[in-house]
Amino acid sequence: MGTIAALAGGVGAARFLRGLVRAMPAEEVVVVGNTGDDEIFHGLHVSPDLDTVTYTLAEAVGATGWGLADDTFRTLEAYARYGEPTWFRLGDADLATHLYRTSRLREGATLTEVTAEIALAWGVKARLLPMTDDRVATVIDVATAAAADAALVGGTPPIPPGDGEPVTMAMQEWFVRERAQPPVAAVRFEGAAQAKPGPAVLDALAEADAVLLCPSNPVISIGPILALPGVRDVLRARRARVVGVSPIIRGATVKGPADRLMAAAGIEVSCAGVASIYADICATLLVDESDADRVPDVESHGVRAAVAPILMRDADGAAELARRALDLAG
Ligand code: GDP
Ligand code: CA
Repeated sequence: MGTIAALAGGVGAARFLRGLVRAMPAEEVVVVGNTGDDEIFHGLHVSPDLDTVTYTLAEAVGATGWGLADDTFRTLEAYARYGEPTWFRLGDADLATHLYRTSRLREGATLTEVTAEIALAWGVKARLLPMTDDRVATVIDVATAAAADAALVGGTPPIPPGDGEPVTMAMQEWFVRERAQPPVAAVRFEGAAQAKPGPAVLDALAEADAVLLCPSNPVISIGPILALPGVRDVLRARRARVVGVSPIIRGATVKGPADRLMAAAGIEVSCAGVASIYADICATLLVDESDADRVPDVESHGVRAAVAPILMRDADGAAELARRALDLAG
């Protein structure tokens, strides 16, 4: 059976994958999902990107693009009574997923196993693989001057700011608690160099007929996957069969902090900047019609640019985009 593999973050990826499973048999799709945003909240292992993909493919995702549709937050509100921080919103029904994942991990199951169990329970036919079963944490080093401000906004940062010392925040703390406001000095993927890709990940990428880079945040959603030993090498070897979709349209993110994180990394916030990050692993990048004038800039990085409407307005639009990506992959 021929398969198509996709590297995925959260909301942008999920919207694309919803189209991909309409454009081809879902059973032949293998998704490698980012776990750099995983976090322990209230003792529960939360995998935001994996859950966003699962819930979206199950047609159960909330209107915001994450969590479950029509969920309520009574448990979290009750929890606030105990003085616990509740800035990371976890809905009542959503909590069942985190309870299940945590208890299975405690029993000794791997994240790969639990993720498959959760996907099965939601009727998801695509194969969803966490990028690793090891702990990798995307962290943001906040620029010095911002450290004090950040502490004011959100309470105690994980590492108390000393005089002139940078503060390190977990990705969710920076993005959700601090609303992506503190200036970014650096993004790091703690544990990535020592982590092993999930047991099926490298084979899935090596054996797929094509590999798609979903329109996800290139720095903090795709970046952690590429940081795992072996992943970049396997994609380099398959570069001709790798097609990406730009998450940046006319110099702006559709949603989320990709612009701020790319700028902090010294990367131009544009489809050409995306091409520069992926140039060694990706032969073709889909860019928006409105970016047609940037085709030469994309191609100056050695990446072929394909122009299409890449803003996904609905599932049909996403399916159309997925078909285009599959065509380009050959
Ligand atoms: P997150 O972990 O939930 O932030 O998920 P992702 O990294 O997968 O998704 C965020 C990225 O998706 C952002 O950089 C957005 O610009 C991008 N994105 C969201 N919707 C669309 C869309 O309709 N088209 C394109 N091309 N990109 C999108
Ligand atoms: Ca994410």
